[in-house]
Amino acid sequence: MNRWLFGDQLGPHFADDHLAEGGRVLMVESRRVFARRRFHRAKAHLVLSAMRHRAAELGDRVDYVAAPTYAAAVREAGGPLQVVHPTSYAAVGLVQRLSADVEIERLPARGFVTTRADFTTWAEGRGGRRLVMEDFYRDARRRHGVLLEDDGEPAGDRWNFDADNREPPPKGAQTLGVSAPPWPVEDEIDEQVRADLDGWERDGDVAFVGRDGPRLFAATRAEALVVLDHFVSHRLPDFGAHEDAILEGDPWMAHSLLSAPLNLGLLDPLEVVQRAEAAYRSGEAPLASVEGFVRQVMGWRDYVWHLYWHLGEDYRDRNALAAAGELPDWFDGLDGSATRARCLSHALDGVAERGWVHHIPRLMVLGSYALQRGWAPAVLTDWFHRSFVDGYDWVMVPNVVGMSQHADGGVLATKPYTSGGAYLNTMSDHCGGCALNPRVRVGEDACPFTAGYWWFLDRHRETLAGNHRMARAVKGLDRLTDLDDLVAQEEARGSSAP
Ligand SMILES: Cc1cc2nc3c(=O)[nH]c(=O)nc-3n(C[C@H](O)[C@H](O)[C@H](O)COP(=O)(O)OP(=O)(O)OC[C@H]3O[C@@H](n4cnc5c(N)ncnc54)[C@H](O)[C@@H]3O)c2cc1C
Ligand code: SF4
Repeated sequence: MNRWLFGDQLGPHFADDHLAEGGRVLMVESRRVFARRRFHRAKAHLVLSAMRHRAAELGDRVDYVAAPTYAAAVREAGGPLQVVHPTSYAAVGLVQRLSADVEIERLPARGFVTTRADFTTWAEGRGGRRLVMEDFYRDARRRHGVLLEDDGEPAGDRWNFDADNREPPPKGAQTLGVSAPPWPVEDEIDEQVRADLDGWERDGDVAFVGRDGPRLFAATRAEALVVLDHFVSHRLPDFGAHEDAILEGDPWMAHSLLSAPLNLGLLDPLEVVQRAEAAYRSGEAPLASVEGFVRQVMGWRDYVWHLYWHLGEDYRDRNALAAAGELPDWFDGLDGSATRARCLSHALDGVAERGWVHHIPRLMVLGSYALQRGWAPAVLTDWFHRSFVDGYDWVMVPNVVGMSQHADGGVLATKPYTSGGAYLNTMSDHCGGCALNPRVRVGEDACPFTAGYWWFLDRHRETLAGNHRMARAVKGLDRLTDLDDLVAQEEARGSSAP
């Protein structure tokens, strides 16, 4: 029997049991996937490189089919087939449709620490209370015995070290001074991928955005393990403290760069968590860093995965703040040179260059700007998905619709995350060199984030006044003597580059 592996199911935990029983694997590479939407070219490169590397490892155990569509390839291959639960509603729908013609056995999801049943049991035990990430995470740690003492209490007597992890960037520093991540060395498979992508572009079949420079993210399990080992030994001790800070000269800071290999299925998140815990137990990394990292991987990542399914297929269409704006071309095309706003310019350039910026530029610069401007959440979700190397439907929909755009009305986050210039001035080193002034709301050098923050609050005054975490900020509007001018200025600016 063949096991059909999707392009994000590439690690041993998706196939080794099956291969050990003498099974074979089917993989399908479809050019049409890239023709439908304008993806970042580095993302297309990474996904194709990872799939082809996996196929090379599997040798004659794989049927690797380049076909116009998945459906055509699967029908051609015929059944019986096995498939591990895919990671998007669209792929689940495809498997369901194909099941009418081909015998397909569906296996439960893999690639997450907790199972769907774990989540359901936890959610049902809430008795209608909110599905708070912190509570889910504690339940998952108990269930999987992670960072616990022998008596079942949390290591260090605390579940949460977030309070130690919100520091601004170190004063005057250009970088965090953490050892640089190891970069992959490209091989002939990457060379062939690049040649194919050039050819597809030349033929006019596909159009990409962003640069496809030397590959920065792991495309094989061996590369992913090198990144994991290096991170745990050299970077994890510095993870956490400056997690929410931005330094212009240090895009990576102490982040792990593991989202892309995790989402390609090259690493099992439980092994990642266990490696981090072992570093704490052996005294290689402090508890605050290890807990902060474990919270991201088995807390946020698993939580977002389960919410994607739990909240249903139409969650993606939620638009509680009725935001309907289109993305302007300069933002859509990742043109950092279009704007004088230094934070925005750096974030867009970072995405163009690498297909990746860390969590805070995503949330507090790019997402925050879109929220303030009133751009449609569904369009923004599509943009994030296409432009980021680690973007997949299951992870983008909750992060953009819920966390970043508050379009679910408060299911995922109790208040909208949006930043004024004061926040960005504290948490980044952008403002010092910016032509605009974070303290100015109105006028030639007004900071679009400061003005945008108040404009956003004013537009949603009634809705947000009812939110106890926003009520004070909304009241602040009454103290602004220049609010009418500010609103006129921001309405005139709209979505044009600041
Ligand atoms: C608007 C927005 C869009 C995002 N889109 C994606 C996305 O498409 N793919 C993606 O993997 N992450 C996404 N994230 C979450 C997070 O920003 C990235 O996982 C992280 O920046 C990746 O870099 P890293 O591997 O160095 O992460 P680290 O800072 O080292 O964190 C460790 C790991 O924790 C996990 N993680 C942390 N936060 C989240 C989260 N909110 N959701 C899911 N996993 C999380 C990731 O697997 C990450 O590798 C998004 C966040 C926001 C606000
Ligand atoms: S002044 Fe405003 S636009 Fe300029 S970097 Fe600071 S926050 Fe960004």
